[in-house]
Amino acid sequence: STSTEAIRATLFPGDGIGPEIAESVKQVINVAGVPIEWEEHYVGTEVDPRTQSFLTWESLESVRRNKVGLKGPMATPIGKGHRSLNLTLRKELGLYANVRPCNSLPGYKTRYDDVNLVTIRENTEGEYSGLEHQVVKGVVESLKIITRQASLRVAEYAFHYAKANGRERVSAIHKANIMRKTDGLFLQCCREVAAKYPEIKYEEVVIDNCCMELVKDPGTYDVLVMPNLYGDIISDLSAGLIGGLGLTPSCNIGEGGICLAEAVHGSAPDISGKNLANPTALMLSAVMMLRHLRFNDQADRIHNAILRTIADGKYRTADLGGKSSTSDYTKAVCGHI
Ligand code: NAD
Repeated sequence: STSTEAIRATLFPGDGIGPEIAESVKQVINVAGVPIEWEEHYVGTEVDPRTQSFLTWESLESVRRNKVGLKGPMATPIGKGHRSLNLTLRKELGLYANVRPCNSLPGYKTRYDDVNLVTIRENTEGEYSGLEHQVVKGVVESLKIITRQASLRVAEYAFHYAKANGRERVSAIHKANIMRKTDGLFLQCCREVAAKYPEIKYEEVVIDNCCMELVKDPGTYDVLVMPNLYGDIISDLSAGLIGGLGLTPSCNIGEGGICLAEAVHGSAPDISGKNLANPTALMLSAVMMLRHLRFNDQADRIHNAILRTIADGKYRTADLGGKSSTSDYTKAVCGHI
């Protein structure tokens, strides 16, 4: 954006290490000179009857109004009579696609150094529709729902993403040889969308084969789109390929163009409040949010500063084998910006 007018974005610092790493993100965004005004919302201590959740109606309205936000990890409160926080966000904001880029970090050694793939997961239906029941004692049944509407929507997003980000290929991941109707419909929808993007290569890969190839040679994959359950599994597998949860960002795309970026890790209660957490995943999630807002230069500067800090190796947090605190690492990243 060339405008200097401040953009309002919702920030959920979240629980546990959330507030510490959210502070790091605010600092790097500030140093990069991005004119963002954060509307901070915390998870409530009582269930809001309007949302049946600890997330208040006002928090959800803030995201709906701003259409853009960043979410720290949220610890799921224990007890009955409320919906899970992540489920509330997904349902209320219509977050239909979860986008997770996985790139090898230069200088941080893992088994592979050429991972550069993006998983795009359908986020609203499939095996996670919540329709399970007991038929008779000892027999339970779970319904996998696949709709044309949700499949087209996530396929459209995958091809749009591929085109907008200069990607060459979209692979639809499926098990349609067994799940003929459900995954068959998903594939049919992907094919229809693929036909509208002749410049993007399209292929279909059976999920078991995909897993084997991902661990053998992840560099061969580009953009992957898939139904909910497969996406849950493959996106964590992909995160593992590049060094784990402290490094992996994601972004949820919702109805009306909502973009809610989030780190994929949890609230890490074991290290919370100790200035030990790695803020990289949330920083990279913020970078995704900035790209969505077309602050591409600032996004690149923050991204490069993170890569340089990790590659230098002088300031690294404990999860990457270093000795730095959250705040010292953040300072180093700010210095590189
Ligand atoms: P977790 O991701 O919080 O922690 C797993 C391990 O990874 C811990 O050892 C932790 O210290 C480490 N870790 C995670 N993030 C790190 C970071 N940024 N830097 C350094 N180390 C990091 O998973 P968990 O312990 O299973 O879950 C804790 C809580 O988080 C639970 O209440 C769970 O429901 C919630 N959770 C929330 C989300 C979310 O909001 N999206 C996701 C997963 C878990």
